[in-house]
Amino acid sequence: MDERIRQDHRLAEAEALERLRASQPDREASQRITEHALNLAREVRATRPAALSAESFLRHYGLSTPEGVALMCVAEALLRIPDPETADALLREKLSAGQWVKGGGQEAEDSWAASAADWALMLTGTLARWREAQAEPVAQLKRLAARLGEPVVRTAVRQAMRILASQFVIGETIEEAVTRSRAFEAYRFSYDMLGEAARTAEDAARYFDAYSRAIRGTPAGDGVSVKLSALHPRFEEAKRARVFAELAPRVAQLVRLAEQCAVGITIDAEESERLELTLDLFEELSRGHALGLAVQAYQKRALAVCDWLVGLRRRVSVRLVKGAYWDGEIKRAQQLGMPDYPVFTRKLATDLSYVACARRLLSAPATLYPAFATHNCRTVATIFELAGDRPFEFQKLFGMGDTLYEVLSRARAFACRIYAPVGSFTDLLPYLVRRLLENGANTSFVHQIADPAVPLEALVADPLEALPEPYSPDPRIPLPRNLYPDRLNSLGVDLARADVLDSLEEKIRSDRGRENLGAVENTTARELDFSIARAAAAFDSWTRVPASERAAALERTADAMERRMQELVSLIVREGGRTYADAVSEVREAADFCRYYALQARRHFADPVPLAGPAGERNELSLHGRGVFACIAPWNFPLAIFTGQVAAALAAGNTVIAKPAEQTPRIGFRAVELLHQAGIPADVLSCAVGDGEAVGAPLVADPRIAGVAFTGSDETARRINAALAARPGPIATLIAETGGVNAMVVDASALPEQVVDDVVVSAFQSAGQRCSAQRILFVDEGCAARVMRLLAGALAELKVGDPAEPDTDVGPIIDAPARAALLRHVEKLRTGARLIGEARAPASGNYLAPVAFEMPIEALPKTEVFGPVLHVCLYRRDNLGRVLQWIRDTGYGLTLGVHSRIQSFVDAVVTEARVGNVYVNRSMIGAVVGVQPFGGEGLSGTGPKAGGPHYLFRFATERTLTVNTAAVGGVTELLTRPLN
Ligand code: NAD
Repeated sequence: MDERIRQDHRLAEAEALERLRASQPDREASQRITEHALNLAREVRATRPAALSAESFLRHYGLSTPEGVALMCVAEALLRIPDPETADALLREKLSAGQWVKGGGQEAEDSWAASAADWALMLTGTLARWREAQAEPVAQLKRLAARLGEPVVRTAVRQAMRILASQFVIGETIEEAVTRSRAFEAYRFSYDMLGEAARTAEDAARYFDAYSRAIRGTPAGDGVSVKLSALHPRFEEAKRARVFAELAPRVAQLVRLAEQCAVGITIDAEESERLELTLDLFEELSRGHALGLAVQAYQKRALAVCDWLVGLRRRVSVRLVKGAYWDGEIKRAQQLGMPDYPVFTRKLATDLSYVACARRLLSAPATLYPAFATHNCRTVATIFELAGDRPFEFQKLFGMGDTLYEVLSRARAFACRIYAPVGSFTDLLPYLVRRLLENGANTSFVHQIADPAVPLEALVADPLEALPEPYSPDPRIPLPRNLYPDRLNSLGVDLARADVLDSLEEKIRSDRGRENLGAVENTTARELDFSIARAAAAFDSWTRVPASERAAALERTADAMERRMQELVSLIVREGGRTYADAVSEVREAADFCRYYALQARRHFADPVPLAGPAGERNELSLHGRGVFACIAPWNFPLAIFTGQVAAALAAGNTVIAKPAEQTPRIGFRAVELLHQAGIPADVLSCAVGDGEAVGAPLVADPRIAGVAFTGSDETARRINAALAARPGPIATLIAETGGVNAMVVDASALPEQVVDDVVVSAFQSAGQRCSAQRILFVDEGCAARVMRLLAGALAELKVGDPAEPDTDVGPIIDAPARAALLRHVEKLRTGARLIGEARAPASGNYLAPVAFEMPIEALPKTEVFGPVLHVCLYRRDNLGRVLQWIRDTGYGLTLGVHSRIQSFVDAVVTEARVGNVYVNRSMIGAVVGVQPFGGEGLSGTGPKAGGPHYLFRFATERTLTVNTAAVGGVTELLTRPLN
């Protein structure tokens, strides 16, 4: 792959845009294009869309209406729901909201069943037609539906969903698809096998068979589109070697088969983090074989990809699309703290990129055969202008853009291919939702042409004319770095880049070779005593340092940590046994803590707060440090939690003795060095190294310690609490964050693939050694079989091993005693519970293979099992109350996950929960500072939450100051008030 493609990946948007200008049509050509596009658009708008088309769907219920959102939700979930109760709950909830009957002079009826009937009719296209002709039958039908009740309506809506599905899926099997395609004589076809990306080897094998069958069944001249992520459960950069060894031969086999059948194969475009891998595979597989590739114009590197394809000098058919995952790309870049986005933030820029790419692809007719996938009149007109007589084809989605191509075909001849999804209707729905989101977005042409309020002239205008000058990205989408209005977001590392992974690996290996960690000296009792005395002496001056100066030192620390990302990641991997991704999040979280507490200190500690009161008196409240704080951290977030506690204590004006866990002293030590270098004086902060007994216990027992910030197990927290209580003198502050027995509750409307993705992350990432990690999965009986099958398959795909290797998913257990205890627990489960699935772990080393067992509710553990062991329990919908009571009865309250499409279900779980952090339809680990302030209740901790707005106050003492301003003789502010 070309280096330029890599460089352009996260190019500054304005710069990426400048490169596109030279490839745009000149003024005269642009005028011709506008005229042609306008004519097309007029005709398209004047033609009534078929009742059963995406256009008509969007015309009735846009995505920005509650009805549109409800429809999406029903469409996405209904068909996969196994049991009638859950299906009815979904329908009742989604369809009772919204105004389903628009116009027509009819009263909307209260009953959700009536709405459902209305909706079913709308979907089948009958409603609009009927309503015009005769209002009475519709009303009658709705009354009937309401009377017949839920089962009938459920069946009707399911049926309607199927009818809707058949508008967008050409057939459930390739044979059906081919038969149906005969009705579209003027078109060629590219069949797309519907489905989610493979999670398991079994999924991948099933897709391989589906593709093989599709290729065999496809008529010569037509094509099949292949999604690489469907053919391999781990199609990721970190798994490059596996992908080349396992996936490449599989695709090569399909390519050869396609050649025999004279069927074209196109590799589909997916998320941007898979592009480098896709291109490298493509380069290998297209050697000597005809192969097609889809290119997404919304990526900043699209033009570089086209240049590369031209330079390959191979016969390639290229499908140019605008791109379907824009919203997801933006979200992911923000979450990962990337320096910039992989995609343009403005739709206009994507349009320009599309034109530039089209021109480039058309420039090599001897080798490249371009296909332009579009439903946009201006794009169509532009392609005609650019192409002249060079060969190309258009592509449209099955069920979309019909009117445009029909209008077009009245005027001229051209080649067009239909991209036609094949598969079961259940698989269709996620696809459909994606397409409707893509085309229902406000910026989409299909959406706008359906909206008579949008003037056609504006719709087909040259994007260059509407561009801001000078160009700037959409101001509503700040760079990930500037996500927060008042502080910098931490910078991430792009672990989807091969060169980044390589350089990290090299660094870790060379660090390992140079100094194999080696012993650290424990702090002696005398040294500890000396440090405490020094910190106590330094307190008075430190607490008077202006809050802004303390904050600035923390901000410098954050910058330094980001600059030293590689070094710190290497240390965390080596000493803490964390994987690359975990280690990067550690550094980011530590930097976030520093910046967040700096901000809070500036906000609340800089100036006293004036308080209202009587005339002649000034009242104010101010915050101050308490004294010397002991910060005691666990090994499992050796940098983030350690730094967070210390930064908070310092920000609030305390001096600190920081004790890292005995398993990870070097990381703590290094953090303290960085804080010192950033300007925290040595006497204000010192590091005490050693275990709990030798250093932790004497530290908290020392009466000079004014407060303790502790994170670790609840036994230790209790011991510290007792030690503090036994001390003479002032009562100390204790902030204790401890463990949890964290559960996720899944109902039958949830998407099993999404559930399993999130369970694997929540239960097994960091080898389950996170306080937030999921220990228990409660899953509705209705979808349990599928969830457990996927879970078993996903477990088999995990690589357990040395975290220095970039493809490792799960590293070691922190030490031998911890592993031995976990092993005993697993052995017990092997005899008493049903094994669902397990990963494989290396025979030697301190590893434990992630594993999942099913058991009844009575057998679930009520204490924390701190490792990669998941306990699964099936429940029935009508027994939800018992499940929630069980969770409460554990007494813990740290994290909780919920997966459901039914809001009332989510609400029921959330209302009942007594836990600190609840996550809905996502994983339940990875809290972000300031975004998900973290910490539990009950046995899980005292609060306030780390990374939250109330944390610093707990480290502070409050003082008020009252001044009688009238003492000198009178209430001057009363006497000198302005005349009114
Ligand atoms: P741990 O309780 O064994 O040790 C935590 C720290 O306390 C270590 O630095 C240890 O040396 C010190 N310590 C031990 N005995 C002490 C004593 N008598 N006096 C003073 N200090 C003492 O915990 P761990 O094994 O390092 O960490 C894992 C535990 O931490 C799990 O239970 C996990 O759930 C919990 N945890 C909680 C959170 C949270 O935010 N709630 C975050 C991370 C970890």
